[in-house]
Amino acid sequence: MRDAVFDHIERHGHEQVVWCAHRPSGLRAIVAIHSTVLGPALGGARFRPYADEDEALTDVLRLSRGMTYKAALAGLDLGGGKAVILGDPATQRSDALLRAYGRFVDSLGGRYITAEDVGTAQADMDVVRQETAHVAGTSEVLGGSGDPSPATAAGLVHALRAVVGHRFGSPCLDGRHVAVVGVGKVGSALVGHLVAAGAKVSVADLDPSRVHAMVVRHGARACCVDDAMTADADVLAPCALGAVLDATTIPRLRCAAVCGSANNQLAEPEDARRLADRGILYAPDYVVSSGGIINIAEELVGYDRTRATARLAAIGATTSEVLADADRLGITTVEAADRLAERRLQAGGGTSAF
Ligand code: NAD
Repeated sequence: MRDAVFDHIERHGHEQVVWCAHRPSGLRAIVAIHSTVLGPALGGARFRPYADEDEALTDVLRLSRGMTYKAALAGLDLGGGKAVILGDPATQRSDALLRAYGRFVDSLGGRYITAEDVGTAQADMDVVRQETAHVAGTSEVLGGSGDPSPATAAGLVHALRAVVGHRFGSPCLDGRHVAVVGVGKVGSALVGHLVAAGAKVSVADLDPSRVHAMVVRHGARACCVDDAMTADADVLAPCALGAVLDATTIPRLRCAAVCGSANNQLAEPEDARRLADRGILYAPDYVVSSGGIINIAEELVGYDRTRATARLAAIGATTSEVLADADRLGITTVEAADRLAERRLQAGGGTSAF
């Protein structure tokens, strides 16, 4: 069993994986540090009722590795890490559990910096902050940068301009049709930016009230999720859940390009080739959705919103570089993004600091 766990961890080059248990509060968590080559490993804490420990371990290993690539591509002096808290946040969240989690994070001495993720919120990070300084995304009164979603949306606009520029020869969004699937925190802010830039925007969400709000607030066109996914749009922007691009959905797409914030949009690695073979330009999610982490990284040097906002423009430049590399080398945009991230990691000494 022990070898099986080490094999699992070593396969993707993780540096350290820590199991945390605190019986009085019911905390069971795993912290995975994939790489600290470029700096301390930053990544959110996902609080979910995992089916079992194996599922939780697989998730934290995959997500922490993704954070290494995301931070490297964002040009940040940060590594990749992630935490999972096993349990149902609706019934098991408590200050005692979050504080116990904070003490474990603190015991890592700054090698891992935690933040919010699915199942945790800014208020939870404020509680974690009572136990450790190694937490980001706390509320602004505590010196944090607040909700990262507006920065993620603003960064996505830089990426969209790069995508449209690459595909159509001009970064201008005026008159372009963008179908946004998922108008939650990121998607709704994105719609506002797109409409202000003159784009024609279609919106879909499982929650009709969110769609309605976009129609009333921004004059967006409402449609059902399937119609938005298969819209004859210049750009499809998936901003809900991951794994929406697969062997079934890709043949049905009619968009020219895909650029959205949803994490892990490709169901499997082969989907990057499936998109390329259909002539659909895919901007990898971990390149275009780094606005939130860029914003949070500013906290670590003393948060300044103006400086953080200016840094988001780098997402456009990196997206352009990835798309151009893919064309030049005849590889998928995912391969091009991974190569660029690995170049930055190699320059920093490889993927492992040890
Ligand atoms: P959110 O929960 O605020 O919004 C998600 C929206 O998607 C909700 O309105 C929900 O009703 C809708 N939705 C859920 N399932 C759907 C489906 N099958 N079809 C259509 N709509 C569906 O989340 P968010 O913070 O806006 O994040 C959106 C995505 O972007 C997530 O994948 C997240 O991991 C990723 N992301 C977010 C940030 C950030 O700063 N918030 C940063 C990087 C990546």
